[in-house]
Amino acid sequence: MVGLRVPAVEEVVLRLKELLFPAVADIEVLSLDVNIEIVRVDVQCTTVGAACPGCGAWSTRVHSSYLRFPADVPSAGRRVVLRLRVRRFRCRDAVCARQTFVEQVPGLTRRYGQRTERLRSALAAVGLALAGRAGAWLAAVLGVSVSRSTVFRLVDALPEPGGACAAGGRRR
Ligand SMILES: [Zn+2]
Repeated sequence: MVGLRVPAVEEVVLRLKELLFPAVADIEVLSLDVNIEIVRVDVQCTTVGAACPGCGAWSTRVHSSYLRFPADVPSAGRRVVLRLRVRRFRCRDAVCARQTFVEQVPGLTRRYGQRTERLRSALAAVGLALAGRAGAWLAAVLGVSVSRSTVFRLVDALPEPGGACAAGGRRR
């Protein structure tokens, strides 16, 4: 038959990664589970090791691993939650204050973060435009459950707008 070709599983998974996380390097999508309310995306990091946030030493010595479930931006009205397996590494440097550390995926996660970086940015933008209750309400309409206080906290964590230009006085 002409024009009909079933793509290989690896090809589909690669496309999913490009579709869902175009700006995030070093992760792969393992599987996708969709039901009426929620999309679960199974992802993991593809690097063989990670740099210690304490001393910068690269380590490939895995201590343990566990699952994190950060919320991501909604898709077609459904909540999206990642199922991200992260590894805890042993630092190679014997005198480093951090004996072990957990890998982070740049552009996707941060330490103790319950949301992906892009969801965090989206909620902070909503919070800037509509503070407090209105922001939480709009987020709920968009399919994200978030409290007023979290909206405030995300806005507070934003860098000061304008940076150095802000001190330069008003534009004429
Ligand atoms: Zn270290």
